[in-house]
Amino acid sequence: MYVAVIVELSAKAVDKTFTYHVPPMLEQEIEIGKRVLVPFGRQQLEGFILNITREEVCDYPVKDILKVIDEHAVLNQELLKLGKYMQKKTLSSLVSCYQTMLPRALKAHKNTKVSKKYETYYQLVDQTYVGNEKQQAIISLLKEKTMVLKKELASISSSSLQTLEKKGVIQSVKREVYRLKLKEQTIDDKVILTAEQKSVIDRVLTKEKQFSPFLLHGVTGSGKTEVYMRFIEHVTKQGKEAIVLVPEISLTPQMVERFRNRFGNQIAILHSRLSLGEKYDEWRKIERREVSIVIGARSAIFAPFTNLGMIIIDEEHSTTYKQENMPKYHAIDMALYRVKTHHCPIVLGSATPSLESYTRAKLGIYELLEMKHRINHTFPTIHFVDMKEEIKKGYPILSRLLEEKIKQCLEKKEQIILLLNKRGYSRVVTCKNCGEVDMCPNCDIPLIYHKELHDMQCHYCGYHKPVWKICPNCKGDSFQTFGMGTERLEEYVKKTFPMANILRMDVDTTTKKGSHEKMIQAFSEHQYDILIGTQMIAKGLDFPNVTLVGVLESDNSLNIPDFRSAERTFQLLNQVSGRAGRADKLGEVVLQGFQLDHYSILYASKHDYQGFYQEEMHIRKKLNYPPYTNLSFIQLKGKDDQYLLKEANKIKDYLQNDHTLQILGPSFSNIPKINQVYTIQLIIKYKKSPQLISKLKFLQEQYMVGKKCKLEIDLNPIRV
Ligand code: ADP
Ligand code: ZN
Repeated sequence: MYVAVIVELSAKAVDKTFTYHVPPMLEQEIEIGKRVLVPFGRQQLEGFILNITREEVCDYPVKDILKVIDEHAVLNQELLKLGKYMQKKTLSSLVSCYQTMLPRALKAHKNTKVSKKYETYYQLVDQTYVGNEKQQAIISLLKEKTMVLKKELASISSSSLQTLEKKGVIQSVKREVYRLKLKEQTIDDKVILTAEQKSVIDRVLTKEKQFSPFLLHGVTGSGKTEVYMRFIEHVTKQGKEAIVLVPEISLTPQMVERFRNRFGNQIAILHSRLSLGEKYDEWRKIERREVSIVIGARSAIFAPFTNLGMIIIDEEHSTTYKQENMPKYHAIDMALYRVKTHHCPIVLGSATPSLESYTRAKLGIYELLEMKHRINHTFPTIHFVDMKEEIKKGYPILSRLLEEKIKQCLEKKEQIILLLNKRGYSRVVTCKNCGEVDMCPNCDIPLIYHKELHDMQCHYCGYHKPVWKICPNCKGDSFQTFGMGTERLEEYVKKTFPMANILRMDVDTTTKKGSHEKMIQAFSEHQYDILIGTQMIAKGLDFPNVTLVGVLESDNSLNIPDFRSAERTFQLLNQVSGRAGRADKLGEVVLQGFQLDHYSILYASKHDYQGFYQEEMHIRKKLNYPPYTNLSFIQLKGKDDQYLLKEANKIKDYLQNDHTLQILGPSFSNIPKINQVYTIQLIIKYKKSPQLISKLKFLQEQYMVGKKCKLEIDLNPIRV
């Protein structure tokens, strides 16, 4: 018996399988999709079995495989096919596609050893034994429950426990346990569906047995989550499985909690904040069919279910669904492929669908479903404050209006959310005397002052250093700071409202595992009056007592040089203002900024998605951007920017011969240098280009070895 094995080679994407002989004693264990350990040159590597043959079909002397690693295949037939599709969509190596689909513990890598977790239990062997008082306590507990955790018994008396075991009265048993604890009980919190919810559900279920993609455009607070839960309930009742994707699960603990309350131990959870062991356990729950629902971030789309009944993608416009390193796949593409295989619906939900998705709905590629009304029937009132005026009057941080609204809100014992999408204390530190700016030596951008840690940090590469005492340029000793981050805002708000309890949530305050969930819990129990945070607080939170949302520098995201910056601004503002007044109380939103007459902000304030869509599409058409055209990216990364530029121009010359392509660049990317590595890019625009893929593949090969830079391709970038 012979097997074709694919291994990961750092030397590059050689998508070749290698043939190995299977020693007779291992033949029983061989199965496509399992991992094996094989000799490779002078090393030993892990790889996936992709094929089994009876005959030797290669021109080199075959070696024996050394070991079969898995008891069950880690890649089933469907995932094997999906990997090939991903390879086509991303121009990555096949093996990297397989690796990206699996949790760390199941990738073909040596040294990622994650083992099953066991706990020790005891059971009673000798029913007749009579011991002293403590021993009897242990015995009667075991008579009552048959199996008891060691920890519990040891808390009675660990020496008695030992004695009983030595005497053979009791016996220990090891049992595998899952690291994530499940809810055994479910809570029945079902509501009566609104007419809109009902019609959406009915429509989707008429097509439950066929490939049918839906775009659910529902305003914030229209009850989309409830609709998702009804779908899942239906699907699981049919004995099928469901996958629910959320943008970043650790940012949406409330949503996960709602699912867990409703579905209890039918759910597995997959996201990046889980430990290796936890992920491994959750994966095995799926594989063993112990759960029928998965809720998770992007990579949960690869959950190894075999009888899918529906895929739901919440906040479908979210950029987190696109993987930013190779293979640069989009979860929606993967999802569409899977539901085609399983002949079932997919529901893409959002209050602000991406322009691409909404256009597909208009073209009939997706069926459009709408929920236009909030459950509580009111939208928050939106106020604008021009900060140019406020700064002149001496209110650079909180405008007079926002300060007044906060005061009123606190008096009514209601809660407030303040959003500022920048962390740290101040953005730039300069010498008052000569103007020298404290810059990151690796990335050529200003360092950010963190007051609590008293240091200067680079938010791109993690470099940090002490704060200047004297200017390295002119020896001056006084400095000024510009720009504000959440730390500074918190300090200011504390000073202005000394009686209020204030909670800050950003990357700096939530590094500890689980701290996120705890903070959100505490805020929802009203232990705090004001929540200050970066965009991590904008998503999916549902606090009935929040009646005021303030957005500082709300037009900030418009300054990012990306053709989607208006769309992102619209989405973000829509989302945050959706946080206000979700229950029976009225909500208000205060937007502070400098260019508040921008159409994205005006439409967001009117909750007018259609208006925004029309105007933005008009601009995209004029400038020839997606969805009117296709866009691809070639990025060169390396330490020598002059060299990169030269290479990029060579590539441009090569591609420009093709008249179906319009090439922009080369130019530096938005963050031109991170950690000493420069990125230079070419943007390729095209409507239809039959030759493009083969040309890109050719380029990829040219840059695989022997160059001083790396070439990366993105066939559908979500950031420019
Ligand atoms: P979305 O996901 O669209 O933002 P949610 O599903 O979170 O909206 O619903 C908003 C709020 O309304 C939640 O607190 C939810 O429990 C509640 N809700 C949803 N559907 C109903 C309903 N039919 N009747 C009463 N309350 C509902
Ligand atoms: Zn840096």
